[in-house]
Amino acid sequence: MKYTFFLFVSLLFCFVSACDTDQATPLTDISVSSHDVHSFSNPEQARATHLNLELATDFEAKTLSGTATWDVSHDGARWIIFDTDELKITKVEVKAKDKASKEIDYMLGKPNDMLGRALQVPLMPDVDQVIIHYETSPTAEALQWLEPSQTSTSKPFMFSQGQAILTRSWVPIQDSPSNRITYEATIKTPKELMAVMSAENPRERNDSGVYTFRMPQPIPPYLMAIAVGNLRFKAIGDQTGVYAEPGNVDFAAREFAQVDDMMEAAERLYGAYPWGRYDILVLPPSFPFGGMENPKLTFATPTILVGDSSLTSLIAHELAHSWSGNLVTNATWDDFWLNEGTTTYIERRIMEEVSGRDYADMLLTLGRQDLQDDLDDLDEVDQHLRLDLKGRNPDDGMTDIAYEKGSLLMQTLEVEVGREKFDAFLRNYFGTHQFQTITTDQFVAYATRNLLEPNNSNFDLGAWIDAPGIPSSALAAPTSKRFEQVDSLRTTFIAGEIFPKFTTSSWSTNEWLYFIRGFPVNVDGYRLSQLDKIYKLKSSGNAEIAAAWYELALRNGYGNDILPEIEAFLVRIGRRKFLTPLYRAMKERGLLTQAKEIYAKARPGYHAVTRGTMDNLLGV
Ligand SMILES: [Zn+2]
Repeated sequence: MKYTFFLFVSLLFCFVSACDTDQATPLTDISVSSHDVHSFSNPEQARATHLNLELATDFEAKTLSGTATWDVSHDGARWIIFDTDELKITKVEVKAKDKASKEIDYMLGKPNDMLGRALQVPLMPDVDQVIIHYETSPTAEALQWLEPSQTSTSKPFMFSQGQAILTRSWVPIQDSPSNRITYEATIKTPKELMAVMSAENPRERNDSGVYTFRMPQPIPPYLMAIAVGNLRFKAIGDQTGVYAEPGNVDFAAREFAQVDDMMEAAERLYGAYPWGRYDILVLPPSFPFGGMENPKLTFATPTILVGDSSLTSLIAHELAHSWSGNLVTNATWDDFWLNEGTTTYIERRIMEEVSGRDYADMLLTLGRQDLQDDLDDLDEVDQHLRLDLKGRNPDDGMTDIAYEKGSLLMQTLEVEVGREKFDAFLRNYFGTHQFQTITTDQFVAYATRNLLEPNNSNFDLGAWIDAPGIPSSALAAPTSKRFEQVDSLRTTFIAGEIFPKFTTSSWSTNEWLYFIRGFPVNVDGYRLSQLDKIYKLKSSGNAEIAAAWYELALRNGYGNDILPEIEAFLVRIGRRKFLTPLYRAMKERGLLTQAKEIYAKARPGYHAVTRGTMDNLLGV
């Protein structure tokens, strides 16, 4: 029986022995995992539990190379399967306790454009370690290698972005969120640079260029993260601080001064912070997201450094992930709303605690606008909280359905049972499921048993989870006193009155966004140019305001007049949330040629995540 099975398998896979993977003979499919359609791994049979990573960074070759040593746990499984993408694997060894390691033939699956390539390593009953020798590709999708000219200190910089399924492009790993791992790492860098990871981090650069890391709490693979650059650390509180390029670090520490208050609020609401330190790494402007909740070390865009702390709700969001997402994790990318909906809800609760109800109401209103925009754009099937992303990139699920519809469900449940009971429910939910993953079905069962039934509620969760649109049980759109004033000013301006300049001096970014978003598409371009003269929105140093203004301008035909400013913005910043509406507006307003010309200049500076979206949008 064993022999027959072995023969069968040998027909399905390519056996490779210490060879260049490019020389591999034709391969056959390895089917995706039964537990996660975005991974080839087989943790039900054999599970990689702890990683010891030893890598050297090579900025010239744009590669990481070294070994990934995995502790594996299995009960006589015949093999273990890892996810990889574009990795050049040079050797695989297996090791049994108290024995020397030995090189072994391994197998590679057929490459899949989206999922990469399975690496299958045969196991013997006593094998408890697998050692993979490899090198990343210069085009590894998770990694962005910045030229010195793309940083503020003219030193090279590299960072990773693992979510959703990109970690496999720099570490051979069982890359499903349901497979939690611990890790330690030794990273060698050029001596003038410093490495940091989603782990316990060094505070200072050292002269050896060798840094060691430890992540003792189990995390999902998408939270493995690394950055190497000319970094300085500055403490904010006892357990909080910021890493940034030297010219930015003091500014960033001032901007994030509220982080200790946020932490205190979050702990009061949801229990003790479970990760030790909370630090923030400020990346160069090409970072494709606002923030990434890498545990112990949030990665953040510098576009939130605006001088008045008015964009730090993003930090509240990433901090909130320390409970929802990082501590209790979506089991698959179909359940992504569990990560983001809960986090967006908690973000606003934290902001209400530290900045007041008025402030939180503005965030809720802007969020509801974002939700409506996505509902207008998305197919009905993509408006369900629970998605079916089989055969699709998990990035397709990163919409405001997960964030805002998910958050609206949490808000509605809060009102359904009362705030005190809902807070206790969430606290228990995090406590009960800590360091575990959860599916949508498990959440529904838990909420029914622990929230709805004890409160005699007939709340229909199914209408939210497996149906499009906003269910009838949803709370009405929020109102905000501060926005009511903005509405009246905008109306006055559109009606042709002179715009009173002084009234905006107390505005936060939120008021400006609401003001700009509220203009009708047919407002005269000349009127916009008048506003620009007074408020200099086209050259705003606040990327949120600038991006909203550019989109309005493009949609109103005023964009042509300020194209140089729009181009400079698109070339400098790589945050996908800003770029998508701007390129789309150019495309839809007859500026596709100009959009493509700008994109050709900007593209080399974008991360692969952003490039993927823009390539599709512009048909490049
Ligand atoms: Zn998030």
